[in-house]
Amino acid sequence: IIILGIETSCDETSAAVLINGRDLRSHVISSQIITHQKYGGVVPEIASREHSLHFQPVVQQALDEAQMSFSDLSAIAVTYGPGLVGSLLVGVSGAKAMAYAAGIPLIGINHLEAHIYANFLEHHDLEFPLLALLVSGGHTHLILLEDHGQYKVLGLTRDDAAGEALDKVARTLGLGYPGGPQIQRIALKGDPHSFQFPRAMLEPDSLDFSFSGMKSAVLNTLNTAKMRGEELSVPDVAASFQQAVIDVLVRKALMGIRLTKVKTLLLAGGVAANALLRETLNQTLSERGIRLVYPSPIYCTDNGAMIATAGYYHYLREDYAPWTLNAVPGLSLR
Ligand code: ATP
Ligand code: MG
Ligand code: FE
Repeated sequence: IIILGIETSCDETSAAVLINGRDLRSHVISSQIITHQKYGGVVPEIASREHSLHFQPVVQQALDEAQMSFSDLSAIAVTYGPGLVGSLLVGVSGAKAMAYAAGIPLIGINHLEAHIYANFLEHHDLEFPLLALLVSGGHTHLILLEDHGQYKVLGLTRDDAAGEALDKVARTLGLGYPGGPQIQRIALKGDPHSFQFPRAMLEPDSLDFSFSGMKSAVLNTLNTAKMRGEELSVPDVAASFQQAVIDVLVRKALMGIRLTKVKTLLLAGGVAANALLRETLNQTLSERGIRLVYPSPIYCTDNGAMIATAGYYHYLREDYAPWTLNAVPGLSLR
């Protein structure tokens, strides 16, 4: 079974060719980070134009590197939401045209599901039920996976996503976009205990998240210092905020594990690339006999390989998309 996976939901144009859900034959990622950096974030109109420009060459390169043509493919899997509508449309219409012309099935993939499925690419012994902590640029979810394609969202953020909060704090600190990796880098030189930022836990039994108040606490601290003419240490602020975010994520993950009695936690999404988050969770969970699984960093942020992996499992159950498949910017995990 050979799947071509395509991702264009935000600012990465990516395509991958995957055999039998684990043998990755090619993986091309064209990132627009440099284009958007000067604006401090992704500009949707520019993103969709860039996707139009790079879509065909990226797909062709993925096929070339895999030494395959369309006639070798079993199906084409593409992200149809959530994401930026203009960006999604480039992938969806392109994939639709290619699949139709090749006479093979089209598979519509939920981008959030794909982030979780990045774990199945490299780990082949995962047994349900699984608990997933999805921490990305736009989402923070705790999800119970009962089987392939069967999800129960146990908790989600009520305001900002963890990645979004890291990005905003980084921007205010003048660290640039995307902020998560910058915070991780500069936090190495800071003291995580220098500032006591709040850890929002909400109601005692809630598995929901809230990062906007935590973000505001940092911004207030920075503004107050500025008004008083004080210089704050950027590494100290970054390290303290990163620690606050990680503390909340780890505590909520533990609550979810206690509630579901699941034995394996899957970490997913761009923030899952964070080394301190991985390390802290690894230590906390191993002490409790819980297995922690996460993708290699390249499969944490947006990529075509995770789309192809999710597509493979859809293909196995013949879960194909109709030719009327459309982009759904606000798609959620049901
Ligand atoms: P979504 O998947 O929710 O639609 P997205 O696709 O924009 O949003 P991802 O690509 O999954 O998000 O992840 C990007 C986010 O991950 C950004 O917020 C970025 O700052 C964060 N991130 C990436 N690497 C790291 C890291 N090493 N440490 C912390 N955060 C990171
Ligand atoms: Mg991105
Ligand atoms: Fe993403």
